[in-house]
This record gives sequence, C-alpha cells and structure tokens, in this order.
Amino acid sequence: MSDQPLKLYNTLNRQKEIFTPLSPPYVGMYVCGPTVYNNVHLGNVRTFLTFDTLFRYLTHIGYKVRYVRNITDVGHLVGDGDEGEDKIGRMAKLEKVEPMEIVQRYTNDFHQVTATFNLLPPSIEPTATGHLIEQIEAVQKLIAEGLAYESNGSVYFDIIKYNEGGHNYGKLSGRVLDDLLNETRELDGQAEKRNPLDFAIWKNASPEHIMQWNSPWGKGFPGWHLECTCMSTKYLGKQFDIHGGGMDLKFPHHECEIAQGTGLTGVDPVRYWMHSNMLTVNGQKMSKSLGNSFLPHELFTGSHPLLDQAFSPMTVRFFMLQSQYRSTLDFSNDALKAAQKGYKRLVNGYRVLKLQEFMEEEDVAIDEKKKADIENSVRGFYEAMNDDLNTAVAIAQLFNLVKYANMLYLNQLKSAALGRETFELLKEKFVLFFEDVLGLQEEKTAGDAVLGGMLSLYREYKAAQEYEKVDEIRLYFKNQGLVIRDMKHRIDWAYEE
Ligand code: AMP
Ligand code: ZN
Repeated sequence: MSDQPLKLYNTLNRQKEIFTPLSPPYVGMYVCGPTVYNNVHLGNVRTFLTFDTLFRYLTHIGYKVRYVRNITDVGHLVGDGDEGEDKIGRMAKLEKVEPMEIVQRYTNDFHQVTATFNLLPPSIEPTATGHLIEQIEAVQKLIAEGLAYESNGSVYFDIIKYNEGGHNYGKLSGRVLDDLLNETRELDGQAEKRNPLDFAIWKNASPEHIMQWNSPWGKGFPGWHLECTCMSTKYLGKQFDIHGGGMDLKFPHHECEIAQGTGLTGVDPVRYWMHSNMLTVNGQKMSKSLGNSFLPHELFTGSHPLLDQAFSPMTVRFFMLQSQYRSTLDFSNDALKAAQKGYKRLVNGYRVLKLQEFMEEEDVAIDEKKKADIENSVRGFYEAMNDDLNTAVAIAQLFNLVKYANMLYLNQLKSAALGRETFELLKEKFVLFFEDVLGLQEEKTAGDAVLGGMLSLYREYKAAQEYEKVDEIRLYFKNQGLVIRDMKHRIDWAYEE
C-alpha cells in the first residue's frame, strides 16, 4: 500500500534505518520483560504497548515474527546494580513467603494487565530461573575467552579486556569509557573487581540471600544482564533482528548485553535496538520508587487521588498510541479526558464502517475528490507506520476516514459515490487498522442483541408516545456510556462522545 519501506529508529546508529530482516519473512524480536516483584504500573505498560504495536504491525505487513519477551524472576537487584538484595528475594522476606510465590503472583498480575490492554502474548515467554544452565555455561565460556574472571565466588565481565579486543563498550548509549571510569564512585564490593565498571555475570550469594544455586564458583545467582543475553540468543540465534525495551534500560543493561553477546559468539547480537520513551507524571518518570506510579486498576476505578474520574483500558491504550513511542508522554487527567473523547469518536467510526454495506445505485456519480482523499488517508496510515511507527500521524489519518464514516452514517454520502472498490478499501482497512494494528476494541457492557432489543422497545414506546418509557430507555443507554441516535432515516445507538 505504501511506496515507502518500513524504517525504524536504531538506537545503535542514532538514525532511522530501512528495516531489512536477516531472513525474511521471519523476524526475531526480543523485549525485556518485567521483573515480577510488584504490580506493573502504567509506565511499564507503555513500553510493552510499544512493542505490541510493532509486533502487530510487522505481522500485518506480512512478516512471521517470533516475539520473545522474558520474565525476570531472579538476579535483578534493588538499585539495578551489582550489590544488594534481589528485588524478588526482598519481597519474599518481607512477606515471609517463597520467592516463587512472589514471582507467580506478579506474573499473574502482569498477564492479567496485558490481557486487559489487549497486548498480544509473545511467542515465547522464558524465565531467567528456567535458563540457569545456559547462564552458567555462558559464564564458563566468557571465562574461557578471557573476558571474565572469578573473584570471591563472583564472576565479572572484564570491560577493559573486551575493549582491548577491538570492541567498544559504550557504543549503544554513546558513553565513553574514560568518562565512565571518571564518573564511577567506589562502591561496596568493588574491591572484588579489576575495574569498577566491570559488571557481575554471576554473583556469590551470602547465606541470607534466599535465591541461590550451585555453580562451579560456589552457591550464587546469575547477573541480570546475562539472563537476557542467554534467553534471546537461545530462541532467536546469536544474531537477531530487533531488541526492545524502555529507554532507561539502554545503559547499562543493554550495553552489557551487547558486550556479553559479542564476547560469547564474536558477532554483535542485535541488528536494530529500539527504545521506548518514558511515561511521565508532571515531567518526571513514572516509577514505583518515586511514588508517582499509577496502577491500571486505579484508572479503571478512578480511585487514584490525582484522577477525578475512571478511564477504561481502551481509552488508556488509545491515549498512549496518540504519541509516537520515542517521545515522552505525560500522564494527566486532562490528557486522558481528551483521549476518551478521541477514542469514542474513533470507535463510533469503526462501528459504522464495520456494519455498513455497499449499495449499488446507478444514478449516483462518483465523487472523485472524496475517493482520492480516502485512498490517500489509507496510504498515509501505512506511511506513518513505516516512518518509525508514528502512531500519532497514523491515528490522524484514521480521523480523516471517520469523517467519511459519519457522512455515510448520516446519509450525506452514498456508498455508490465512492465506487465499490474505494468503499471496500475504506471499510476493510479501517477495521484492520483499528483491530489488528492498533489493537483497539469496542467496550460495551451489553451485547448487540440486547441493545438491539432495547432499540426496538424504544421505537415502540416512541410510536405509542409513552415518553416516560422512552426516557427510561435513553437512561439505560446513557448508564453504559452509550446514546441513542434518533435520525430521520434510522434509529441506532452509538458511543457517547
Ligand atoms: P522493570 O520491571 O522495572 O524491569 O520494567 C519493565 C519495563 O518497563 C522496562 O522495559 C522499563 O524500561 C519499562 N519502564 C519502566 N518505567 C517506565 C516508564 N515510566 N515509562 C515507560 N517505560 C517504563
Ligand atoms: Zn533485559
């Protein structure tokens, strides 16, 4: 549909690049999943939504995507560094339960949240604890390559050795090793390291550290960065197409993944690095530790103190899609209210087009201008998505199409005036873009049959001039966020905009 190829912004080269997979039509994509020690907040949802949209779009344009998104259930330490408690182990201690109970509880929560927002499940969802053997083998290999060393039962990746081998630790984040060295403070445990920037790929566990396993270096646990290297390359190969995650993971997490992968196999593991920008609240990153996070259920119920009403999952999904994934997105009541209006307008257009059928009429002339505008908007949708997934512009194209949906609905435009081909293009593409690419859904509490029945009653009461009953039926719709559209040529219901 579009003359332009798909371009994606590659963090590695700091530019938009034409996306050419290693072995088309297959695409391998890895996304860092959640650390399951607490409830996912809306910031996390934004990142997963970005890659859900990419997964959907790649599939829509014909690629066969293997999408791997892991569950981090060990090794991610409080503070994101090499020292301290495991995030999951800490919660387990606090609550006096098994670490795996914490993992199960928040994995379930994550799955429930992703389903609510209509995020597609990945093709493979590996866990770090399920890949300890792979991680121990990777540590052994890195030691054998001279790129890692053991110290007091921990094993560290040797950054200086790695760079001496002609590599560039810092190339993804644009950091310069010397600057990094100057910035690094002496922290606990660094006496074990040859260089303060070296990072743990295996950590010695003290007896009170609950999550620990036997290894050639004694009892310990794997490093956070190593798990993603092992799980991505196991399922996608030593080099694969796309690696995604939130912007905050660029350094050190993804930088370390490049170093480990390159050290293990000799090739750069990832061809396109993609980073989703942060969801912010008053300009500050939404995060649990800053105390400014919103949980999905707080939105659905409107119970968060900063919200003055409830918002539905699709309103939130639409709100996030309205900005391109590389821009920051600020979360506020007003922005959500505007998104709610926009979403309702879009879903009404969707419903109209889904139900509308082409009607042949011989004496209707083709409206060339409208026909061309519709075709341009469909093309414009693809062009926007091909321009580094610019969902903001893509949605603007859909709004242009909603205009025609409304004209058809109000009988101001006859489908015959568009010609069968353009009408079918409008209908088919709009529905596909809405459902498959943007992953939006209708939200209504009653089924079509019930609503249809209520409309019949409405007609009967109206004909019998029983206006109290008519009002009752209007109220029934209103309570569900719907309105009755009583038009000259037909009576129907729609979402209240
Ligand atoms: P975590 O469970 O902390 O490892 O985070 C899971 C994913 O959510 C990572 O890709 C993070 O980069 C991402 N993330 C965390 N906070 C935000 C935020 N405020 N906005 C967007 N993404 C975020
Ligand atoms: Zn990761």
